[in-house]
Amino acid sequence: MAIPFFKEMRIGAYLMKQKLLGRKRYPLVLMLEPLFRCNLACVGCGKIDYPDAILNRRMSAQECWDAADECGAPMVAIPGGEPLIHKEIGEIVRGLVARKKFVSLCTNALLLEKKLDLFEPSPYLFFSVHLDGLKDHHDKAVSQKGVFDRAVSAIKAAKARGFTVNVNATIFDGHAAEDIAKFLDFTTELGVGVSMSPGYAYERAPDQEHFLNRTKTKKLFRDVFALGKGKKWNFMHSGLFLDFLAGNQSYECTPWGMPARNIFGWQKPCYLLGEGYTKTFKELMETTDWDSYGTGRYEKCADCMAHCGYEPTAADAALTNPFKAMWVALRGVRTSGPMAPEIDLSNQRPAQYIFSEQVQKKLSEIRRDEAATAAAKQQAKASTAA
Ligand code: SF4
Ligand code: SF4
Repeated sequence: MAIPFFKEMRIGAYLMKQKLLGRKRYPLVLMLEPLFRCNLACVGCGKIDYPDAILNRRMSAQECWDAADECGAPMVAIPGGEPLIHKEIGEIVRGLVARKKFVSLCTNALLLEKKLDLFEPSPYLFFSVHLDGLKDHHDKAVSQKGVFDRAVSAIKAAKARGFTVNVNATIFDGHAAEDIAKFLDFTTELGVGVSMSPGYAYERAPDQEHFLNRTKTKKLFRDVFALGKGKKWNFMHSGLFLDFLAGNQSYECTPWGMPARNIFGWQKPCYLLGEGYTKTFKELMETTDWDSYGTGRYEKCADCMAHCGYEPTAADAALTNPFKAMWVALRGVRTSGPMAPEIDLSNQRPAQYIFSEQVQKKLSEIRRDEAATAAAKQQAKASTAA
């Protein structure tokens, strides 16, 4: 997801309106996953470990538009899986842009050049290309050689056609601050904005060794930002989120800020963590026990500092305390001195593991739907023959 927070007046106006209406919980970005199938198998991915019957499912264009209407967030990020595999992706994006939603289409870019004709440049559409670092680093992260070169070529082709392109990088342990800084210099040369987030420790990701804990994350981002002093890296984040990454803010996450909708339904509680699903957005907002999630409350949240949980918190903090936000914007992120206190983990509730149960439930639904469709076809055939 890479949407220029606060760069769009409409987003600021939306946030202000929610505040004035006294709404405690409101969505900022809909994370729409119309499919889980991908043409890569990255080691840090927690999204593609499903049986084929689930990977073959798609949300229809109508379901995608209904989700956007139901949720009402001004922005829609479309991750996946790989959204460009979805046969109706052009139509889905067109329908969302027609609704004046800011759309961030997140792609690994393998199919981007080939599929550019499906889209039209618009101030509402951003391509957010997955790039985890420079060539060797990225190709290793996505477990395939040549992906970096194809992604960069696609970025150039998309820009030449008038599209806005950003890149999104997931940062894992072992990525040296100097290399991240060189990567950020490269994005500046390429003329693209960049969003960065520490990788969430997905329980289903094949590589469990390289997720950053919060202490390492803060130290790493301080080092990166220190190397960036005086440079004009174009981050697609609010200053306060970057300040949080550098350990200068004690924030609690805002999981409802970026609600996720996929083939299972509305995901509880957030894009990163699947702890059950609801049929409607209203049900998600009203029945999720929000207080039982977050760092210090739930074991699976212990190391999370991901943008989808904390960017909405930073956005809210900027509205509540505009002078602090302005100070960070003017002075830059502080990269030395004491860090803000860390959240106590001693009372967090233990993790619950319900992935297999959810998958079994979905597989039974798929089998039931398929049997019903087959029976209906059989019946139609019989009545035509009679
Ligand atoms: S490109 Fe994205 S969805 Fe595909 S495997 Fe990699 S991280 Fe997962
Ligand atoms: S800390 Fe918040 S955003 Fe992160 S996984 Fe937990 S609920 Fe989701």
